Amino acid sequence: MGVMLGELIREVCEAVIAHEAELTALDSAIGDGDHGLNMKRGFNELLAKSDALAGQEVGAALKTAGMTLVMKVGGASGPLYGSLFMSLGKELAGKTEIDQSVIAEALAAAQAAVMARGKSQPGQKTMLDVIAPVQQKLAEGAALTDVAAAALAAAEATAPMQALKGRASFLGERSIGHVDPGARSSAVITEAACRVLERSG
Ligand code: ADP
Ligand code: MG
Repeated sequence: MGVMLGELIREVCEAVIAHEAELTALDSAIGDGDHGLNMKRGFNELLAKSDALAGQEVGAALKTAGMTLVMKVGGASGPLYGSLFMSLGKELAGKTEIDQSVIAEALAAAQAAVMARGKSQPGQKTMLDVIAPVQQKLAEGAALTDVAAAALAAAEATAPMQALKGRASFLGERSIGHVDPGARSSAVITEAACRVLERSG
């Protein structure tokens, strides 16, 4: 898959930062309105490190990325995205042949890390409702454009769900009818990552 690590990090960061206002609006509806700012702060810091990270081994780079997000994003989502990327780094450390099945396996472990950290599972209107179907599509060997489309659709599909975890769960049934902000940010990340991976072959 010949991953261009620098490009991957940069384009993911730029996509998240470009969606600040939308993520803020989503979190204003069912949370405290800080998801856009939280994510922008973290991914701006990551963007600043992208050149240095691009020169590192992929496992080390992802681990540092995860630690950066833990420290800079904050909120509930910081430690969760941090766990996701640190776990990806641990899984991919030392791997030279990183193809789609290897990424799928690493994401399965990373999803488990998020579930353990969040004491949560898919079906509770969180980022896991995007991460899980993305992992599944990758494992099935789906085309990357289809993986990205599945992520976007999965984020939209959180709207009719009731939040059972995180701040939005405090709203009970009033959380129904809004897309989950973390699900949306996961879809934004997935779409950008798939775009770069697709291009790099
Ligand atoms: P906070 O809720 O502390 O303000 P953010 O607004 O940055 O943090 O992030 C909120 C997002 O985090 C939610 O939309 C949801 O997707 C995700 N989230 C919150 N709690 C959990 C959890 N226990 N497991 C998985 N994801 C969660
Ligand atoms: Mg919030």
